[in-house]
Amino acid sequence: MSKPFASSADLDAKAETLEVLGDGVYALTAEGDPNVGAVEAEDFVVCIEARATPVAAHAWLRQLREHTDKPVRYLVLTHYHAVRTLGASAFDVPEIIAHERTAFLIAERGEADWASELGRMPRLFRSPESIPGLTWPTLTFSDRLTIPLGGRRGTLELAYCGRGHTAGDIVVWLPAHGVLFAGDLVESAAALYTGDAFHTDWATSTLDAVAAFGATALVGGRGPVARGSDAVGAAIAQTRRFLDVLRAEVGAVHARDGTLREAFAAAHAALAPTYGGWPIFEHCLPFDVQRCWDELDGIDWPPIWTPERDREVWAQLQD
Ligand SMILES: [Zn+2]
Repeated sequence: MSKPFASSADLDAKAETLEVLGDGVYALTAEGDPNVGAVEAEDFVVCIEARATPVAAHAWLRQLREHTDKPVRYLVLTHYHAVRTLGASAFDVPEIIAHERTAFLIAERGEADWASELGRMPRLFRSPESIPGLTWPTLTFSDRLTIPLGGRRGTLELAYCGRGHTAGDIVVWLPAHGVLFAGDLVESAAALYTGDAFHTDWATSTLDAVAAFGATALVGGRGPVARGSDAVGAAIAQTRRFLDVLRAEVGAVHARDGTLREAFAAAHAALAPTYGGWPIFEHCLPFDVQRCWDELDGIDWPPIWTPERDREVWAQLQD
């Protein structure tokens, strides 16, 4: 019997946990569903990630409003993926901040990605008819952007660490608390999605740059918050290892002129003992192997995922 496509059969609601990581620092995790966060300034709030729909975003904002009634001034998007951007209208903010390549990717492939992610992860798209359209960043940057928080709260630093999960990921660093919101560049006890990734950059210089912040708490893209330097180091290390094993296994099959199916089988066998029980492992791996293979073929810029291409790759590898 063939496996259900991606996460299309994953329909059970996940338990959400709002964690307070310091005075005015919040993360909402949900058993492997995409995480969101917020940081209080003196007079306003910065929200991090928007969820898949305005209805899903409002549910998060209701929880945040139990802690603060300050207005949300900035919405930060760590990258372009639909499940993190399409709920943006719920925040009703003057500024939506992202990397300049994220703005480019939304223009280039936002529509296709919306359709692709809706098909892959329908449960995350609560009331999809509430999405008014694509989310357009109003403020973009290439390297670093600082938001002063006022009073004694210090600054919030938005930083580009190199190509990784996508061409335009950023991290959000709160030096006063040692908290790093890493987006999908780091996963803590969740499998990696690398369908739009630059595997070599991500596994080397980009994760080195992420580690260099020396965070003592890390909110990854999915999974629980890593608390303490050891846990942060472990989350980064297991992210790197996933990429290293994927590159090695797919690379070996590619080098001997094997097939994509053989590469998938090798990567699955090598990764499943450690990562197979983690959220979205079976969902992600066919797309991860395809992208890794494309990179080995010399295709630098990731081909666009569409519902049709999703199903083709799935049928080829996960039946
Ligand atoms: Zn993502």
